[in-house]
Amino acid sequence: MRKILNLNLNLNLVFNTMRIGFGYDVHRLVKGRRLMLGGVDIPFPKGLLGHSDADVLLHAVCDAILGALAEGDIGRHFPNTDPKYKNISSLKLLAKVSGLLKQKGYTISNIDSTIIAQKPRLAEHIPSMVENIAKTLGCNTLQINIKATTSEGLGFAGTGKGMAAYASVLIKKK
Ligand SMILES: [Zn+2]
Repeated sequence: MRKILNLNLNLNLVFNTMRIGFGYDVHRLVKGRRLMLGGVDIPFPKGLLGHSDADVLLHAVCDAILGALAEGDIGRHFPNTDPKYKNISSLKLLAKVSGLLKQKGYTISNIDSTIIAQKPRLAEHIPSMVENIAKTLGCNTLQINIKATTSEGLGFAGTGKGMAAYASVLIKKK
């Protein structure tokens, strides 16, 4: 009995029933771009610069999931030299990452994330961002958490030159 128990324990370790991932992303803020965060189009005089829609939050979430799967990073899966990803909605990239997650037999346990932006105020947009992410990943909104903070006027985020996002994810084997 003990032997069987140990064997199961070892198999669980080998097949990693739960895995953790972490993601980080930064984009520059410029005039003449829409500000997309968590798939929400946020009214603001500037937007994030990038090859895709530059949704810094979704990129951090994608990277966290890819990290948990030991699948490298977003740049490897969606190269910024590929014209088919030009101005693409990052919700589509997240949907592709979600497909890979399912293909590998995993499901999301929970996601926690933080956006660092001096302006605009993001609190009222967070429920829509949570809904977009939950819908795209096919999970409950209670599994997704998004926080927004300023950086007290310090650094590139504090001076409004850019925004950053962090995300961590726990995935579990189906
Ligand atoms: Zn990015």
